[in-house]
Amino acid sequence: MNSKSYTLDGIGEVVVRKHHQARRITIKLRPGQPPRVVIPQLMAFDRGFQFAVEKRDWIAEHLPIIDNFTNRLFYNEERPFSSRLHTVRFVRCNIRCVQAVKADGGYEMRFPADTDFGSIRVQRQIEMFLTEMLRHEAKHYLPDRVAKLAAAHGFSYNRLTVKNVHTRWGSCSAQNNINLNIHLMRLPEYLSDFVILHELCHTVHKNHGPKFHQLLDTLVGGHEKQLDKELNKYKIQI
Ligand SMILES: [Zn+2]
Repeated sequence: MNSKSYTLDGIGEVVVRKHHQARRITIKLRPGQPPRVVIPQLMAFDRGFQFAVEKRDWIAEHLPIIDNFTNRLFYNEERPFSSRLHTVRFVRCNIRCVQAVKADGGYEMRFPADTDFGSIRVQRQIEMFLTEMLRHEAKHYLPDRVAKLAAAHGFSYNRLTVKNVHTRWGSCSAQNNINLNIHLMRLPEYLSDFVILHELCHTVHKNHGPKFHQLLDTLVGGHEKQLDKELNKYKIQI
């Protein structure tokens, strides 16, 4: 017998598994799987479970993060990431540390040969890199684009800030400061423009009343409802 199942209060099933290469106890969390405690071959299963009991708070804190990952794509060698401007490919090669290099008009993120793309730690590294890339793109692209659209339609605004938030594409304050999400860089340009125009309309109308919609609808050729629907198909996550 190489593994044994336990039930941990507040968590559910926990699997303790012996591994011949393990030198110490570790806990592994994987999407869609019960927490797994890996122990050295000669250690008793109960000692492994005791470790899970001691780490219950840590497991409870991290499981929701893992769940979050189950709802999103895992990036790997077969599944690159594309923003509107760049594609990032993920490759394994004979290196010791993770590197990101420019390649083919995009980036190549290089991982050591034994990297497990199914691990949360690796996916977090990927997410951090992609977030920084989107932020970089957004800071270069959005200020000019907003200025251009504002000038074209006679809007004025105060300050533009680029943010990474998970709740909305953009916002406009009472002082006409506009916030835009870095995730706009994942959208086709016409949808990104739609979000920008939406916020620019708020410099004139602060609420979502009929006048607001009338103005926005006119600016997008009568397609506001359709564009809204298209926008809703995109999640604000990597
Ligand atoms: Zn709005």
